[in-house]
Amino acid sequence: MLTSNDATRAIAESITSLGVEEVALAVAPGRILREIVYAERDQPPFDRVMMDGIAVNFATLDAGQRRFRIVATQHAGDAESALTDLAECFEVMTGAVLPRGSDCIIPVERLNVASGYAEVESDYATQQFRFIHQQASDYQEGTKVLGPGIQISPLDIAVIASCGLAQVGVSQLPVVRVISTGNELIEAGKPIESHQIRLSNGPALVALLQQQGFKDCIHDHLADDLHLLTRRIGEHLSEADVLILSGGVSMGKADYVPQVLADLGVRKVFHKISQRPGKPMWFGLGAAGQAVFALPGNPVSSLVCARHYVLPALLNASARAPRVAEVAKLARSIEFAPALTNFVPVKVQTDDAGVHVAVPVSTNTSGDFRALSGTDGYVELERDTSEFKAGTIVPLHRWDKP
Ligand code: AMP
Ligand code: MG
Repeated sequence: MLTSNDATRAIAESITSLGVEEVALAVAPGRILREIVYAERDQPPFDRVMMDGIAVNFATLDAGQRRFRIVATQHAGDAESALTDLAECFEVMTGAVLPRGSDCIIPVERLNVASGYAEVESDYATQQFRFIHQQASDYQEGTKVLGPGIQISPLDIAVIASCGLAQVGVSQLPVVRVISTGNELIEAGKPIESHQIRLSNGPALVALLQQQGFKDCIHDHLADDLHLLTRRIGEHLSEADVLILSGGVSMGKADYVPQVLADLGVRKVFHKISQRPGKPMWFGLGAAGQAVFALPGNPVSSLVCARHYVLPALLNASARAPRVAEVAKLARSIEFAPALTNFVPVKVQTDDAGVHVAVPVSTNTSGDFRALSGTDGYVELERDTSEFKAGTIVPLHRWDKP
């Protein structure tokens, strides 16, 4: 059986990269940047006043003059002006262009202003360039401010907008379809019988995908019926770049998914991974290169497989730069049957030395997904060991940081 690392590799080698499109800034958050963003201008683009007050010539002040005639007021947005008489001052507002000839701002709180004159408090000491954000002191025009591979955050939006770009090049969004299979499943909000099960994987998988910016994601629920599955999965295949199925991939008599996918010309890359949970996972490629992930229906399995394989694969196809791998120290010893990679849900705490500590949260069965709520992620326990002692450093995978 394939190991977890081999499965990750097989998926990465199979999936084709997504193209680039230009999008408006308003819809860019969460998308993967595909271009270099250069500074349009120096930052700040001029010597910027940082306080409401007056702008004076420091040498004049330093020579002992405390009372200045106010020539005019310089507001933010006013074109540059100049102090022709260095014994005078400009009244200035935060964000204004520093008047030429002045090189020191005295805040209004330290002034007495009356009859067109500003008098500086007698004990106020200052220095040249005080409260002036000097031109290009953050960066110069043409500086590379952002590079490809980042997932655009609201803070990045500020930087991109400051560079004058109304549009930006990002990875195309894959068209994703999430399909829950199972006769027993009933969606929330609909009446339910005692022998039925609430459908929970579909909404959770859609939420996981959308949290990572994969917004073009629709859910469908199909009964375990060979003909229905063949027809509907076929339709989804013709419309989507990525199919994520949950349920129907194990050994049960109604587990039709592998057969249906084969009938639809989806080439199997692998079926089953030596891991717990999620052993029955299936992955293949449609005739047009569609990635088809068929996840086991057990809720814990489905969520772990989606986080561990699907999200990294889609982010990789989107040219998202790889994250630095995280590790954590196990809070307590865990014993396992070897030969399987174990994914154990954890809460993450920090010890006195600032090291991440992973506190395992036991799930009763792989269907006990209530216990997942409130966990930060899961640790990966390698297949060739059977005991992990407290304090062992192990890979940590956070739900929200694939
Ligand atoms: P399966 O992989 O189809 O054999 O499903 C395994 C178990 O997971 C069964 O108990 C199903 O009822 C349950 N299950 C499958 N799909 C879902 C779903 N979308 N939401 C909640 N439970 C599910
Ligand atoms: Mg089923």
